Amino acid sequence: MRKLTIDLNAVAVNLGTIRTLVGPTVKVLGVVKADAYGHGMVQVAKKLEAEGIDFLGTADLTEALTLRAAGIRSRILAWIHDPEDDFVASVNHDIDLAVSSNDQLFRIQKAAKAIGKSARIHIKVDTGLGRNGVTLSELEDLLKHIKVAVSEGTVITSGIFSHLSSTGPREDLEQIARFDEALALAAEHGFEFEVRHLTASDGTLSYPQARYDMVRCGIALYGLSPFSDNKGKEFGLKPVMCAEAKVVQTKRVPSGSGVSYGYLYHTDRETTLALVPVGYAEGLPRNATGKAEVCINGKRYPILSRIAMDQFVVDVGDASVSPGDRVVIFGDCGPSADDLANAADTINYEIVTRIGSRLNRVYLGAVEGSQN
Ligand SMILES: *Cc1c(COP(=O)(O)O)cnc(C)c1O
Repeated sequence: MRKLTIDLNAVAVNLGTIRTLVGPTVKVLGVVKADAYGHGMVQVAKKLEAEGIDFLGTADLTEALTLRAAGIRSRILAWIHDPEDDFVASVNHDIDLAVSSNDQLFRIQKAAKAIGKSARIHIKVDTGLGRNGVTLSELEDLLKHIKVAVSEGTVITSGIFSHLSSTGPREDLEQIARFDEALALAAEHGFEFEVRHLTASDGTLSYPQARYDMVRCGIALYGLSPFSDNKGKEFGLKPVMCAEAKVVQTKRVPSGSGVSYGYLYHTDRETTLALVPVGYAEGLPRNATGKAEVCINGKRYPILSRIAMDQFVVDVGDASVSPGDRVVIFGDCGPSADDLANAADTINYEIVTRIGSRLNRVYLGAVEGSQN
């Protein structure tokens, strides 16, 4: 009675749109962290691999190793590391590792020595986001240690990268300039990289000059705009996810009936109430009460009474709505993930990554053998 349709063919379309935008000389890393933003990490990764993606990206190594265990052979970059990870499994499984500190480098070096295999690393530079990575003033010291590791054959410097704060053009352009400084410093020390990469979806769309050798796209692959402006379609992006449910009960009630917890809503005439089995456990934010809309039989209805854990109620007036009718929460013909994000005062990223486990996942266009 609750369904989440994930159209993997739309992921392929979106990848094509990004490739057309960046041109043939720029590689694309598909970000599949956080269960591919709630879309199913293994299924999305298999689709991207079948489409010839250059790299996959995960936040952490548990995700990267899950992809390897599922048979994914593409290059995978992971960038947030457990401070106690010994990196042995990751080097063993050919995961490209972001290096944000001397300490991480030393542990990677040790793992590489222990198993007699070189580790591929991407130097992470903090150009102003204030998250992970070495600052420009720490970079030279890290480069010296990396030189030693390269000469002993324990690491290969595959990449160097950074991440924008997306505060505004002034701040972003400052970061781009600092990234160029970092590249110049690395070049002075004789480093060459397979991939220099800076932009996520938003920077890829906003700063063509900053695409370097590769772009790292997450939200755009899922067909949504990174700008929370509901403009995904204008970029030629196609939403991948559609959340829907069935009406499970309808009832006629008199005028003046209070509905759901706290009676935020009273009927003002005799009307029909429709019960939908989706609540905040499904990722429909409770604070979207009064603002979110859903689509039933092609018509939009606001959710005016309190969204509960498992269900909400809509007043459908005298429309002919019956149990079994389809209710689109977002996607497809219903409101967009952006509409729901606006109603809940958040961003589309948070809507799609927090869909609950009680929706039955249905994949369209899945690659053979990737249903589980
Ligand atoms: C999540 C993430 C991305 C992808 O961001 P989108 O806005 O979804 O394209 C890229 N790079 C890094 C380092 C990230 O953490």
